[in-house]
Amino acid sequence: MSAKPRIAVLGGGFAGLESLFYLKYKLGDRADLTLVSDEPKFLFKPNTIYIPFGESPEKLQIDLARPLRKQSIRFTSAKVQNIDPDNNEVVTTDGSLQYDYLVVATGAKMRSREIPGLEDHAVTIWTPDEMLRLRERIEWAIQRAKDGSRTRFLFLVPPNNRCSGPLYEMVLMLDTHLRRHGCRESVDLVYATKEESYIEAFGPRLNTVVTDEFRERNIEGHKGFVVTGVEPERVVFQNGEDLPYDVLVCFPPYVASTAFEHLPTDSRGFISVEGDSRRVCGQDRIFAAGDAADFPIKQAFLALLQGDAVGDHIAAEVLESRPDIRFEPMSMCVMEELNKATFAQVPLKETGDPEKPIAVDVDDTEHYKVGVSPLWRLGKATLGIYLPWRFGHGKPFHAGFAWDAMDLGLKVMSRVLAD
Ligand SMILES: Cc1cc2nc3c(=O)[nH]c(=O)nc-3n(C[C@H](O)[C@H](O)[C@H](O)COP(=O)(O)OP(=O)(O)OC[C@H]3O[C@@H](n4cnc5c(N)ncnc54)[C@H](O)[C@@H]3O)c2cc1C
Repeated sequence: MSAKPRIAVLGGGFAGLESLFYLKYKLGDRADLTLVSDEPKFLFKPNTIYIPFGESPEKLQIDLARPLRKQSIRFTSAKVQNIDPDNNEVVTTDGSLQYDYLVVATGAKMRSREIPGLEDHAVTIWTPDEMLRLRERIEWAIQRAKDGSRTRFLFLVPPNNRCSGPLYEMVLMLDTHLRRHGCRESVDLVYATKEESYIEAFGPRLNTVVTDEFRERNIEGHKGFVVTGVEPERVVFQNGEDLPYDVLVCFPPYVASTAFEHLPTDSRGFISVEGDSRRVCGQDRIFAAGDAADFPIKQAFLALLQGDAVGDHIAAEVLESRPDIRFEPMSMCVMEELNKATFAQVPLKETGDPEKPIAVDVDDTEHYKVGVSPLWRLGKATLGIYLPWRFGHGKPFHAGFAWDAMDLGLKVMSRVLAD
């Protein structure tokens, strides 16, 4: 190892920046830090749900140049093509670089083509451009309503989608949006998911919340509907049913954004890691965090927790101390509905069942909390200011006085507004 360890972080998203800024926070100038990313800006993806309802995509991005310069972190603007663990080398479109420690946080991408017809007929929700396309479809439906025509939106969660929550936000927000435009009666909202319960990853309490919301809002819901194909005006399911649509909105199946042939991965390219540390299996010096790694549920909040565990384990090795932070999968989310929001804190546990490796620990009633209130919209808005503010200053989300204050606020809110 060189005198100052060279630590390279691949990917400037939630997991990559959290581990990078945590390492800076812990190590100061005792390590040589480099970020490699194919995007010069950080995208606050969770808030792209507002784009179909008028938010500007530019407002959701942070230019990384300033925080990186301020923290003396080198930036390589390039696409990572390969990792050669035998030679401690990363190959990029801008040449190669050597590392002593490596953090892989290159995220996921969508693979619509694994469902016949999906690519041709669905509006998908992954990038800001796709959200702008959905905005066009919503505006089209509102215009049609004014002209006296009905429109049928079908929302679809297919197999291998790893983060269904945002699609629930879309249908609930659309309901509120259409009511505000006085045209809800002219639009049919239908939801079909492969899940056995709504937002299955978050357990029975979220299923109850969504069931109630769908009933109150007159949204037709179908659970256990596994799509087999998409035709120009209808979706066909494994159970023999089919559902018609005018606008099909889908959150497609997930795969790793980048396939790393020399690292152990599952069949979708997600990197196999050890539970607590997120160290890549069989690799001493390589860690993987966030959507790129093999944790079955893909979420920004979980990506941040993984980024902290990675940063802390590497920092401990550099400082020859013991790590304090292990990855404990406690998920947290706020589901936006535009007129109110649903907060959920969800303890997750490993099951040992390869078919369903993660389940909600429903017996952990101290931590499994759910609350529905207009005030939770404030909680979501605060997170949407706090995180970009921290990253914009080159600081980790979960550290220091600012996080202590934020954490206290969340705890008070969840005590008062959730049970
Ligand atoms: C519409 C929507 C709403 C969401 N809402 C929520 C929510 O409310 N709460 C929540 O917790 N989660 C939410 N999520 C999920 C969350 O956004 C992701 O789980 C999170 O972004 C994962 O972080 P990450 O750092 O692993 O990956 P990303 O944020 O995707 O970052 C990956 C980074 O790596 C870069 N990269 C990729 N490949 C390469 C390469 N080969 N070379 C160099 N750089 C590369 C990318 O450009 C990007 O900068 C939402 C997702 C979507 C799409």
